[in-house]
Amino acid sequence: MTNREVELLAVGAGPANLALAVALEELGTDGLAENSLVIERGHAVQWQQGLLLPWTKSQVAFAKDLVTLRNPRSEFTFLNYLRSVGRLDDFINMGSFTPYRVEVSGYLKWVSESLRKVRLQLGCDCTSIEPVRDSRGTLTGWLTRLGDGSTISSRYLVIGAGRDPYLPPVLAGLPTDRLIHSTRYRSRVTALDKDQPYRVAVIGAAQSAAEMFRAVQIDLPNADVSWVMRSIGLRAYDTNKFTNELYYPSFVDKFFEAKPEGKAQILREMHLTNYSGVETDLLQELYTGLYLDRLSGVERRRLVPMTDITGARMDGDEVVLELTDRKTSAISELRRDLVFLGTGFVREMPRLVRGLGAAIGLERIEVTRQYRLKLGEPSNAACYLQGVNEATHGIADSLLSVLGNRAAEVTQDILARRHGKRVNGVHRAAAEELTAVPLSADGALRT
Ligand SMILES: Cc1cc2nc3c(=O)[nH]c(=O)nc-3n(C[C@H](O)[C@H](O)[C@H](O)COP(=O)(O)OP(=O)(O)OC[C@H]3O[C@@H](n4cnc5c(N)ncnc54)[C@H](O)[C@@H]3O)c2cc1C
Repeated sequence: MTNREVELLAVGAGPANLALAVALEELGTDGLAENSLVIERGHAVQWQQGLLLPWTKSQVAFAKDLVTLRNPRSEFTFLNYLRSVGRLDDFINMGSFTPYRVEVSGYLKWVSESLRKVRLQLGCDCTSIEPVRDSRGTLTGWLTRLGDGSTISSRYLVIGAGRDPYLPPVLAGLPTDRLIHSTRYRSRVTALDKDQPYRVAVIGAAQSAAEMFRAVQIDLPNADVSWVMRSIGLRAYDTNKFTNELYYPSFVDKFFEAKPEGKAQILREMHLTNYSGVETDLLQELYTGLYLDRLSGVERRRLVPMTDITGARMDGDEVVLELTDRKTSAISELRRDLVFLGTGFVREMPRLVRGLGAAIGLERIEVTRQYRLKLGEPSNAACYLQGVNEATHGIADSLLSVLGNRAAEVTQDILARRHGKRVNGVHRAAAEELTAVPLSADGALRT
């Protein structure tokens, strides 16, 4: 099988690494951009393809695209995309700061096709990454393995592959054809017989569960849907402008420098700005729909709040969920054909990153302010993690808000290392590794 060599390999062509590609094109001097490759396991560049539904919108302003906050004059702005595809007048006339999700997805695809120096390859599934060491044991680069058996060697590596979908352990024993996580909603539902009267359970109380609850009514119009959640009911996202300032790229420094108790308070109090909530317009629409159902005596959709799923098994062809009422501890059964999971993502580092950490011999996965993995040893190679550093860099880390600035910080860190900047007479790369915070002994692999 073949091995290719590039200077910089970026895994995943989501917004994070596309913003990196833009930063490399605009800032990457001396051939770095030309010697960079982005790989993507999908066969097309799409944004959140599992829930790329025609009526869903981005929850952040269009100007928080891949580059505008860093360089509003860039050719890769969302507005320039709209102009290029002849939709600028329509977008402005619509008078909304938040584009439809399909527009953001179209923008990302356009950016990927507009790159002139950085190469992008689709259909490349990265299965594992290993450190490469020379005969003295010094870490000199990375070997990335792909699903087709080929490999890519690189000195710099940027992982921007998103997070792993969360499957609640209580459901783990059910056959996979009965479970549909939100990340696979579209592809799985289009393969179903639309006219069947499926009995469906939707699990979770946040935006993705709400979107699936609404979408099922269109995609499977004869379905009977029970929406099971632990909470007392649905809550709206907190979108007030005061807390929204904590999503500014400039807040990353403040968060990074905060004491652990300060960080914990910020993440706790910001939780409802990004998690466990539903967008206000969608809430109103869902409520109106259920109200009209009641008015006309239709009984095909219901919310089941304050309920834990405490067991799950197959009985013949039926999924049997054991439900425990959190108010009374009463136990009941819910018999379904399909279970839709709006259960979000695993909080720990993704499997790919944990595998790399184990291969390097790290006890703890941590990054510097510039998102560089702390290797605990001097090395001219470097690996950067994008989108998984909420614990150290703040709540905006997994979102679009900081992408452009973060991509520039990563690019500049690589450029500084490439040019061998010196700190107190020692190469900056070596100096920083030697003064890295000692690795924690608790073995935690949390972000
Ligand atoms: C339904 C949904 C809606 C959202 N809406 C918003 C919003 O409105 N505003 C906002 O700011 N944030 C939103 N988010 C958060 C979202 O995480 C970010 O918007 C953004 O997509 C993060 O970009 P990313 O590149 O880090 O990760 P992703 O968008 O997850 O991209 C990762 C890419 O890596 C690829 N990949 C994964 N593993 C591999 C592998 N092993 N080999 C090769 N390629 C791989 C994936 O196919 C994907 O293309 C939303 C998230 C979801 C799930």
